Amino acid sequence: MGYVKGLKCRECGREYPVEPIYVCEFCFGPLEATYDYKGIKKVLTRKTIEKREKNLWRYKELLPIDGEPQVGLSSGYTPLLKADNLAKELGVKELYIKDDTVAHPTLSFKDRVVSVALTKAREFGFDTVACASTGNLAHSVSAHGARAGFRRFIFIPSTLEASKIVASLVYEPNLIAVDGNYDDVNRLCSEIANKYKWAFVNINIRPFYAEGSKTHGFEIIEQLGWKAPDSVVVPCASGSLLTKIWKGFKEFKEIGIIKGLETKVFAAQATGCSPISTAIKQGSDVIRPVKPNTIAKSLAIGNPADGFYATQVVRATGGYGEDVSDQEIIDAIKLLAKTEGVFAETAGGVTLACTWKLVETGKIARDETTVICITGNGLKTQEALNGHTSSPHYIKPNLSSFEEVLEKIDKGGK
Ligand SMILES: *Cc1c(COP(=O)(O)O)cnc(C)c1O
Repeated sequence: MGYVKGLKCRECGREYPVEPIYVCEFCFGPLEATYDYKGIKKVLTRKTIEKREKNLWRYKELLPIDGEPQVGLSSGYTPLLKADNLAKELGVKELYIKDDTVAHPTLSFKDRVVSVALTKAREFGFDTVACASTGNLAHSVSAHGARAGFRRFIFIPSTLEASKIVASLVYEPNLIAVDGNYDDVNRLCSEIANKYKWAFVNINIRPFYAEGSKTHGFEIIEQLGWKAPDSVVVPCASGSLLTKIWKGFKEFKEIGIIKGLETKVFAAQATGCSPISTAIKQGSDVIRPVKPNTIAKSLAIGNPADGFYATQVVRATGGYGEDVSDQEIIDAIKLLAKTEGVFAETAGGVTLACTWKLVETGKIARDETTVICITGNGLKTQEALNGHTSSPHYIKPNLSSFEEVLEKIDKGGK
């Protein structure tokens, strides 16, 4: 048996048993998993964790499953890179990249949430899994679901990047491209979830799915040498990842794995879809839905389910919210690649560009330790860079043709 006790309404506190449900019957507040922390404290120590396999299940007592992990046994434990070149560029002392562009089967942090969601779907006895996706979730449910032998229904906005569509279709799910934006897709999926007995990972399985994001936070602390950073910058779509990184940090404190916790949590969005950072900047508790218009499609949720809770975490920790233009996103993707050799998708460009602004405006102190969350691989959104990179040097297949070019390159100082 696991250590998950039940579900609890985030609004009214009413408690529910562990079931595939996600809203409170009384106040319609979202449900969240609760745990037996006293029990966990007895079994989960730094030493136990360190002895375990390097995947996201090394923290399994803090994940909402009852039996053994069944999906995602090679997901997680991604690198934490000390980014000295980038730190110099930004003018900060200590900067780390939590690099979820690699070491996951589908190359984004969504493999964390899906590993937990599908393990839970199996425990609940579902044979069909489904999701509403802005792209990365589609890949992840398609892939992990294939390996685990689930029937899969994947719903996406039909305007998704062509490369993201192919990268889902290769796993042969039932891919449904909806004529509408993500918020339209999500609304439709809620209706479908009411009618069909499927495990919609980000609807009726959401309270379990979302817990998987905590492992991104657990790993940051472990890889910093069992220490929380001063600041962490998190890209926001629904806002769930941000709230769960913070929940993970607090849980490590609760069970005594870390002592102090003074991390400031920062929210990063694209200006073309910035309901969360806008509310933070305005000091408002109200998230005003927007119609997304940005190249950062994986973050393009105009009506973010966890937006309110994300603003609360940011405010409570002394962080802030920032947003950046499409051009700034592209520049940041290139800067990250050229300084640290990491090719991030548009969401990574958002995180880095926002971090830069937060440093420039003094919201992030230059002499502190900052971790930036880079959540998806750039090979998935190459379209975003079309026309924004330099061209290859075209030559004839002979030495003199090459040396002509070499002379030019040398003059250019590269
Ligand atoms: C889904 C996603 C996020 C964040 O999603 P939340 O809904 O805020 O949890 C961040 N980066 C990438 C690349 C994503 O696909």
